[in-house]
Amino acid sequence: MAGKQRSDRFRERTPRDLNPITCSFCGRNRNEVEKMFKGKDDTYICDRCLTDSMEILKDERKERVKTGIRELPKPKELKVYLDQYVIGQDHAKKALAVAVYNHYKRIMTNRGDTSENRDVELEKSNILLMGPTGSGKTLIAKTMAKFLDVPFAIADATTLTEAGYVGDDVENVLLRLIQNAAEGDLDPESTHIDEIIARAEVGIVYVDEVDKIARKSESMSITRDVSGEGVQQALLKIIEGTVSGVPAFGGRKHPQQRQLYIDTTNILFIVGGAFVGLEDIVRSRIGKKEIGFKTSGKNKPSDTSEILREAIPHDLVKYGLIPELVGRLPINLALSELTSDELRRILVEPKNSIIRQYQKLMEMEGIDLTFTDEALDEIVHKTIERKTGARGLRAVIENIMLDVMYNVPSMKNVKKCTISKEVITEGKEPMTA
Ligand code: ADP
Repeated sequence: MAGKQRSDRFRERTPRDLNPITCSFCGRNRNEVEKMFKGKDDTYICDRCLTDSMEILKDERKERVKTGIRELPKPKELKVYLDQYVIGQDHAKKALAVAVYNHYKRIMTNRGDTSENRDVELEKSNILLMGPTGSGKTLIAKTMAKFLDVPFAIADATTLTEAGYVGDDVENVLLRLIQNAAEGDLDPESTHIDEIIARAEVGIVYVDEVDKIARKSESMSITRDVSGEGVQQALLKIIEGTVSGVPAFGGRKHPQQRQLYIDTTNILFIVGGAFVGLEDIVRSRIGKKEIGFKTSGKNKPSDTSEILREAIPHDLVKYGLIPELVGRLPINLALSELTSDELRRILVEPKNSIIRQYQKLMEMEGIDLTFTDEALDEIVHKTIERKTGARGLRAVIENIMLDVMYNVPSMKNVKKCTISKEVITEGKEPMTA
């Protein structure tokens, strides 16, 4: 007996002996964990089980974000949505709706794919938009991202530089995408940072003016434009798909800066430009071929966008894009110059058209604003003179509306204000009632 007591007394004490509370999930004793949370009816959960469950939840949420959009709209739905905001450009809208649909479908398939047909992994198809300034390239890309509810960032190729030069590093474009994914509230230390980056990893980046970083083509150059080529190489790297270190607070990379790592494999890149001069390259190639084959040439495309639609990778290389970049932009779309009819429709039709925006502003003053048909025609006429596409519409209207917006709110008892053609052409006062 005495022997047993002695052995009990000298048995090594386990944590269990000291504390009767155990985790209802993993069975660990209170003394084995840092914290124990009490539930109902003497149930407990330890900090380890809590952390593990949070990890599982986080992974699941991340996976959901990564597979993209909960319900991917069909190409037709995408096009119908685009139609509400983008006038004309039917071919580009349709082709882009298909391309974007395939892009996200591809992400979903590749991720959901488990085994055998891995060998048919679908490759990313980035998009090249060619079209004159103010024809809606940026607008289409932006509207698409909005509808899909994916992060979106715009970059201007001309401000981008190769690493180490003064200017905007290509990585900062990715930072903008991450900032957009964080909805403007990016805190690199946030517990949600992985989720934010996962969202950015399926976003859309629009790179404008990519034609301006073309190296001078053989026929045009005296000295080779090396910097343009360098920027193209930098762009190529992120377009191809890489894990890129992005300085969390922007600016230059330096060792002390906190880096965020983002995988660009599934980011959709849409690059755009006016590509002035490309038309001639295509035309001369088609022309040569036609002579070679002795075709009559009666079906020769005449509209610039129709000619650009005929562009082949070789033409783009001749224009000055590096072949590797062209190879990564398999979908080439050409937007047309907007006709005066389309410009007029842009004034009034889109949900957030400029005229509607001004009407809303005046409505807040209790005034009903209208434009006569002739006034609208005149605005279009003035816009065409500017040669900046639909971009010019806002500037023209802002000019016209400056005096109106200045004077009308101070006028007593005005309920209606009509802008006639003469307000624009002769600087007359608008009709008020
Ligand atoms: P781009 O990128 O082709 O130079 P943007 O898309 O930036 O031109 O167009 C500038 C502005 O002109 C847009 O914000 C929009 O208000 C208007 N706009 C241009 N094209 C269209 C269009 N096809 N339909 C409606 N608005 C347009």
